[in-house]
Amino acid sequence: MKADYDASRVEKLARSLMTYKKQYYTGKPLVSDAVYDKLEQELRSVSPQHPVLSYVGAAPSTGAPKATHDMPMLSLNKTYRIEDLQSWMGEETIVGTPKVDGNSLSLLYENGVFKQAKTRGDGRVGEDVTDKVLWIADCLPRLPKDLTIEVRGEVYCSQHQFALLVDDMLERNLERPNNPRNIVAGLLGRKVHIDLCRYFNFFAFEAIGLTGLKTEVDKFETLHGLGFSVVDHRLLKKPKDVEGYLEEIKQWMDDDEVAYDGAVFSYNSLALQQSLGNTSHHPRFKLSFKWQGMTAQSLVKRIDWFPSRLGIITPVAVIEGVALSGATITNVTLHNAEHVKAYNLKQGDLIEIVRSGEVIPKFMQVLESAPGNYQWPTNCPSCKTPLTFDGVRLKCENRDACPAQRSGFILNWMRAVEVEDISEKRLDQMMQMGLVEHVYDLYTLNVSDFLRLPSTKDKMAEKLYKNIQASKNVPLAKFLNGLGIEGAGLRTWEKLIEHFQTLESIQSVSAEALIEIDGFAEKSALQIVEGLKERKAIIKQLLKVGVNPIVQKSKFATGEGPLAGQQFVITGALSMPREQIERLIREAGGKASTSVSKNTSVLVTNEGDSGSSKMKKAKELGIPIWTEEALLKMLSEG
Ligand SMILES: [Zn+2]
Repeated sequence: MKADYDASRVEKLARSLMTYKKQYYTGKPLVSDAVYDKLEQELRSVSPQHPVLSYVGAAPSTGAPKATHDMPMLSLNKTYRIEDLQSWMGEETIVGTPKVDGNSLSLLYENGVFKQAKTRGDGRVGEDVTDKVLWIADCLPRLPKDLTIEVRGEVYCSQHQFALLVDDMLERNLERPNNPRNIVAGLLGRKVHIDLCRYFNFFAFEAIGLTGLKTEVDKFETLHGLGFSVVDHRLLKKPKDVEGYLEEIKQWMDDDEVAYDGAVFSYNSLALQQSLGNTSHHPRFKLSFKWQGMTAQSLVKRIDWFPSRLGIITPVAVIEGVALSGATITNVTLHNAEHVKAYNLKQGDLIEIVRSGEVIPKFMQVLESAPGNYQWPTNCPSCKTPLTFDGVRLKCENRDACPAQRSGFILNWMRAVEVEDISEKRLDQMMQMGLVEHVYDLYTLNVSDFLRLPSTKDKMAEKLYKNIQASKNVPLAKFLNGLGIEGAGLRTWEKLIEHFQTLESIQSVSAEALIEIDGFAEKSALQIVEGLKERKAIIKQLLKVGVNPIVQKSKFATGEGPLAGQQFVITGALSMPREQIERLIREAGGKASTSVSKNTSVLVTNEGDSGSSKMKKAKELGIPIWTEEALLKMLSEG
């Protein structure tokens, strides 16, 4: 123990942690993970050897039959510092995955048939939850092969499934669950209503007893091949890759349907994993990383609803100001209408919020629910049209006439075609003064019109005019992206332009034709066709006022670059996001597609002889196989 640290504080920390640990394993945690982690970290920093730290958990107590694990289910060692992760990594190649915030589960298969499921429990003895797990679709009842193996993974409840589960539970007069994570542990421990477990999902990450595997990536691919869902996994070769990876997954983790609470890293070589083995508490070949996300609690003063450019009405909680990550927070996003319903959110609720880094603060869970029921607005706050509910979100369908949607559309357009200096506030002024009603009105404005705006002098008016005029000559992909069509981003449009070349042919494309294109999902195909149809009049008007979308011929079509005319297919994990590699390929004149065919020139993989279906097909067709390194070398030489 550090000499200058108050001994009674250490005592108190240890006592609290012990209570929380015991309570946690009953499935009813008293505090959030973040609060718990903070206390644990404090104790570790002053008394790294304290016995409470290595205490794994109390014996399970929910009444289900006990079941011993043949191999203990250890917890993971964790760090909050990227430097720790990098020095642990050393010269090794590692695999990174986001860490699902769920409950660990072990599934036993005998000759390909599911036999038993066990919770983690204290790591050595768990509970037999076989009957409940039969309700979880991702926990396969049968494997395609005659295998006798143990599959481990994480069972969780996604946000959307949680909302459906709450409805179902309330209908059965059961108590409203607090949050997705607790209810997973809660329902797995119950004897009745076990069919409610059908709202859960399962990600597999470990296979014990599978032979012939060499790497962690092999393990993921094999589990996936057997039919299990697996989390996104990435091969990281250098310590400097770790930071970018964490940044990247954090971007989408926050908005994903699944709750994550960090990332997990493993050495890719299974031989190395074997040789390092475990301590009594954790494996030495895995390390988990958590962000120093900070949480706080506050009271909801009221809930405001804001219409977005697509007419979605988003709930925002106005809370009593609370300091968090160096800012005073007064507004917290509540995601969507379904969320408000699922958590029964309303004025007077005590809620927990989280803000990690620069990210906008978010609602995490209800700590104390005030009496009464949630309320949804019935009419659009901007145009008063009655709202519709699509199962998740409240929507204002009054698209063209709703001022909030029109303003959102114009802001999105200006971002997409890079018109700067016109803020939301300035646009509001322009709309109020009647200078702009629709997006195309922007292009009919003169310098004298801008001079009418408050605090806008000659120089600024001139600049605004020039910025808008300059955006008339815009690449077609940006033009289409500016139309704000759901289901399509800039990359989607670039891909469509590669196939259909002109605005006219893209406008007349059918959903069937889109689905034919490599890797196009039916849902986004329909959204795109519908979206283009809805915006037909706007497109016409934009062209009429002189907006001129330019088609740049792709290098693939012109036959330039070191990879000119070659088609690439990538399989397995690479050292950078697949999108990024595909962009490099395109920039070098090549084309990236997702399935191997006779048109494929090269298959790129880091996995040697993995036996994947793409690999088999490439071999059959005699297609050359390159490593990522060989590809990058070719690119750099070009
Ligand atoms: Zn409206």
